[in-house]
This record gives sequence, structure tokens and C-alpha cells, in this order.
Amino acid sequence: MLRCPKCQERIIKDRNRYVCKNNHSYDIAKQGYVNLILANQKSSDSAGDNIDSLKAREYFLNNDYYKPLADSLITLVNKYLDDGNVFLDAGCGTGYYLQQIIAESKKDISFYAVDISKKGVIMTSKKCKSATCFVGNVFHLPFEEADLDGIMSVFCPYSSEEFSRVIKKGGYLFAVTPGKEHLFQLKEIVYETPYLNKEEGYKLEQFNLVEQFNVTYNMNLKKNKDILSLWRMMPYYHTTSKEDNSKLESLDRIDCIADFLVSVYKRC
Ligand SMILES: [Zn+2]
Repeated sequence: MLRCPKCQERIIKDRNRYVCKNNHSYDIAKQGYVNLILANQKSSDSAGDNIDSLKAREYFLNNDYYKPLADSLITLVNKYLDDGNVFLDAGCGTGYYLQQIIAESKKDISFYAVDISKKGVIMTSKKCKSATCFVGNVFHLPFEEADLDGIMSVFCPYSSEEFSRVIKKGGYLFAVTPGKEHLFQLKEIVYETPYLNKEEGYKLEQFNLVEQFNVTYNMNLKKNKDILSLWRMMPYYHTTSKEDNSKLESLDRIDCIADFLVSVYKRC
């Protein structure tokens, strides 16, 4: 199923490595993942989420504040995928969603997970033992044309061209982007003029939108650590001044809206 990032030939598992017919080989790390990213496809050694952001994500998600979103993704996988299908989590992060999808899947599906962050892939492979986890770039996926029946892309960069190349006709893409009100109550504290998110799905060619809905609910954040972890895993954190970010440091509880836009696209 996977192909060699150097010569594009198939790679097959041979004990503790993957190898192509041109003898390019990729070791399977002891944590169970394989690195399929070439140096020139990577922006830097620490590409992807940094470890603090990943730890914040791991902590926050493990408190199940985003469980309703995970439940929606589980429902979509069970609704749209069939026995024998191949499904990729493109930008798996810490593996929180995929772990639950695998546990709740009613179908016989081969699961793959990719992220540009090696540390994220290690976290994912620990949680998702049955999945094939690899370090890679969503803009250069190591799959052949039409290899996949579905991709999930949750708060991640995406490539219309690459996704339409690897998803077969009739296959699905599940995309999650921020809803209008996502974390508005936190923004009200941090910013003088908070704004609602511009709500939009993916801009894609060769896909039709088949279903789109919001998952919106109130989160009762009860601890300062929970609030700070949520804020630190958001992109806002890195674009906001220290002074503004520090406004959350003494906040012990808050009711905050989680609002996700979930879009289902079918490859045409
Ligand atoms: Zn090769």
C-alpha cells in the first residue's frame, strides 16, 4: 500500500523495515512507526507541532472535552466506509481521534496515520497499535493513485490535488474546521475585540460536498491547567502577544463553546 518516497515504487514490510525493489529501506522504529519523509519535503527538524503544544493537546484531549467531535467522526467512519477499506488520518496529531475510531469501528478497515511531527506519530503509534503510522507530509503522501477509500483531516493543512490523487473515485474525505463560535469566550478574555471565526470547509476540486454539519456544545472548563492547555494547542497562542496570552493565567473556570464544522466530501 505504501510507496517509496525516493523512487515511488511500492514498499513492502520485511521484518523490522519497509523496502522497495530498488533497495531503499526504511526502518520501523521500536515505537512502531516508520519515517517516510525526505529531508527536502520537510521545513525543519522540528516540523509540525512542538512538544509543548503536543503535550498540551495530549493533556487536554485526554480529559475528553472534544469527545463529541470524536463521536461524530466514529459515526462517519461507520456510515461511509466498508469492510476491506483503507483509511488514512492525514495529520493524526496525538492520535486521540483515530484511537477511538479504531476501537469503535464496526468494519474491517486498514488504518493508516501520518503526521509531519515525529513526536506526534510516536504518541499515535502507542495508542493505535493496529494502525500503520508514519512520519510524512500531507502534500507528498506515500500512496499510489486511488489507494485510499477515505481520509480524515482534523484541523490540519490539506492539499486538494494530493487528496484527489490518493482517494479513489467514490471515496470520502472527512474534514474538520473551526465553527463560527469556537472558543469565543476565551477570545473575549484575551482580545479587546474578539471576532467570530470565518466558518468554511475545504476548497477542493474533484470532490462534491455530501454532508456538512456543526458539532456545537458547551465545555465547562474547571481548572486553570485545562484552560491553558486548550489555549496552548490553538494556533492563536502563537500569534498572540505574551501579555494577552497571560490574561488566562489566573482564570480557574469558564464555560466555553466548542464549535466544529464537519464536512464530508465524496471524490467524483
Ligand atoms: Zn525506492
